[in-house]
Amino acid sequence: MKAATALIDRQALKHNMEIVRAYTPNSKVWAIVKANAYGHGLLPIAKALAKQKQDQEKHSEKHQDDQQNNHYADGFGVARYEEALVLRKGGITAPILLLEGFFSPDVLPSLIEHDLQTVVHTIEQLEAIEKAQLEQPLTVWLKIDTGMHRLGVQPEMVPEFIQRLEACKNVKQPIHFVSHFGCADEVDNPITFQQIELFTQLVGEQKGDKSLAASSGCLLWRESHFDAVRPGITLYGVSPVNEKIGADFGLKPVMTMTSSLIAVRTIKKGEAIGYGQRWRADRDTQIGVVAMGYGDGYPRTAPNGTPVFVNGRIVPLAGCVSMDMLTVDLGADANDQVGDEVILWGDVLPVEKVAQHIGTIGYELVTNITSRVALIYQ
Ligand SMILES: *Cc1c(COP(=O)(O)O)cnc(C)c1O
Repeated sequence: MKAATALIDRQALKHNMEIVRAYTPNSKVWAIVKANAYGHGLLPIAKALAKQKQDQEKHSEKHQDDQQNNHYADGFGVARYEEALVLRKGGITAPILLLEGFFSPDVLPSLIEHDLQTVVHTIEQLEAIEKAQLEQPLTVWLKIDTGMHRLGVQPEMVPEFIQRLEACKNVKQPIHFVSHFGCADEVDNPITFQQIELFTQLVGEQKGDKSLAASSGCLLWRESHFDAVRPGITLYGVSPVNEKIGADFGLKPVMTMTSSLIAVRTIKKGEAIGYGQRWRADRDTQIGVVAMGYGDGYPRTAPNGTPVFVNGRIVPLAGCVSMDMLTVDLGADANDQVGDEVILWGDVLPVEKVAQHIGTIGYELVTNITSRVALIYQ
């Protein structure tokens, strides 16, 4: 009998990459694999999307193959230097970008050594690059704050940063440009138009690559695609847009989170279950105990009624999620057996729906699965 196990469907991943390519036919696609590929496993996911050496050779001979093999990523984006090293040590040779740049100047020589590209979003990073002794120039993406006000150089500072980066011997030319949306998942929020316009105004004429769109930009904002897009969550088949599920955009969920019933128990009307007696039976019923808890990444904040899939139907979460288990109300007439499979989210129960009950987003559920969960690749 299996405990919490995430089945990872690499065909679905490739399918989703093809969907993203169809939405963004004129842009390079940088696959975002930060945070352990949103919980899906950093290296196996990158390998599934990476062009293999023999493929590269084959394709240069026979160009039309590229058309049929468009599930490859043009590069990979990560949030941490350590994530990039895992990719390089695992044999990934594609371009890799540190989306938040380097956190310490000490790693600059290693960025050259491992051929890692970096975002520059602060004066501190710019000065560190200017002062460094590097054997080769570094590929740099200047990050501009076009309105999200999280990371990025202020618009009025952009000319100075461009000028200094262009003058710097440690920087490979041309430099590239990146910005990030704050509200691209809202179809009609004018801030997104303003961000696109400001980005175009500031760097539209520049030679280097320009990149603005993450997943919601890819799916909803054609004007935001520029030279390169940076999808994360869509590759995993999850909707970046509230109130929608991946299937609404033709995406397939990559992760199916499964576990098993480890007990089926009869509970009498009026009895309460688990910590804090949070759920009380209003009739005699059967309770299923599932080997999945917050120790596996299932949020303790999940309320009674959160949907769980057991033997072809949805049953409600009943009672507080504990570290290793959660409980569901199977109903008085249930025939479920110990050992039966339970699906916490996946094809039959979209993670977006589960997330909505819990008051979070699909991103957080898939990313938060813990190291105790087995990842099985299909
Ligand atoms: C995480 C991230 C992305 C991917 O975002 P999704 O919404 O998952 O597509 C793209 N760009 C940057 C800078 C990011 O940090």
